Amino acid sequence: MRLDVFTLFPDHFGWFLGQRHVTNLLDRGSEIRLFDYRETTPLSAGQVDDAPYGGGAGMVMRVDVVDAALEAAYGSDRSSVEILALSPQGRVFEEVTAVELSGIDHLALLCGRYEGFDERVIEHLVDGSVSIGRFVLSGGELAAMVVADAVLRKLPGALGDESSPIEESFSEALGGAPEYPHYTRPATYRDWPVPEILLSGDHGAVRDWRLAESRDRAGRDPA
Ligand code: SAM
Repeated sequence: MRLDVFTLFPDHFGWFLGQRHVTNLLDRGSEIRLFDYRETTPLSAGQVDDAPYGGGAGMVMRVDVVDAALEAAYGSDRSSVEILALSPQGRVFEEVTAVELSGIDHLALLCGRYEGFDERVIEHLVDGSVSIGRFVLSGGELAAMVVADAVLRKLPGALGDESSPIEESFSEALGGAPEYPHYTRPATYRDWPVPEILLSGDHGAVRDWRLAESRDRAGRDPA
C-alpha cells in the first residue's frame, strides 16, 4: 500500500512510523509519505489558514493551500489515489471501514487543524471524509494514526501471526460480533479460575464455546 498523510505536523508521526507492524510493511515494500502543507503553500511566510468569512472564532485551513499540496504530490490527475479528509463530521470509522480501506492501493489522509478545512476542500478536493468518533480532537494527526493503524494491520506481513487480524472483534469471521474472551496462565489467580473448557484440550468444544461467547457479547451492552 502507498499511504500519504498531509499534515502541518509531520514530526508527530515519528512514533507511529517506528511501530513494528508499520516497519514490517515498510520492509515489504509499502510506502508511507508525509507531506507538510507549509512546504507547498502558495502564500507567503508559510501561511496555511485564514479568518472565517462571516466572522467567528478560530482560523480555517485554506482550500488553495490544500489544493497546492495535492497538486505538488499528484499533479491535477488524482484519479488513482483515494483522498480522505479527517473530520469529526465524516463517516464514522469502523472495522468494516478498515477492511475496505486496506484494499486500496494508494490512500491519502488529510489532517485538519484549527476550525477545520474550508468546506470547498470537502466538496471538491476529497473523495470522502472520515471521523474516528463523535468527539472533537485538536487536529487530524491522532485520527490519521488511528485510521492508519487499523488499516495497516490488516495487510499481509504486518503482524507476526498472519491469522491475528482475521478473527478479531467485529470481523467478518465472527459475523461482526465482538471477539470471545482470552485467558492465559495462571489457571487460577486469587479465586478467579479460567473457564474449565479452555483447559480440556477439546478443540471442537473450545471453538463452540468461543463462538457462543462472541455471539453472547454481541447481544450485550459493553461493560
Ligand atoms: N470545527 C470543527 C467542528 O466543530 O466540526 C472541528 C475542527 S477540529 C478542532 C480540527 C481538525 O481535527 C479537523 O479538521 C480534523 O482534521 C481533526 N479532527 C478532530 N476531531 C476529529 C475526529 N473525531 N475524527 C477525525 N478527525 C478529527
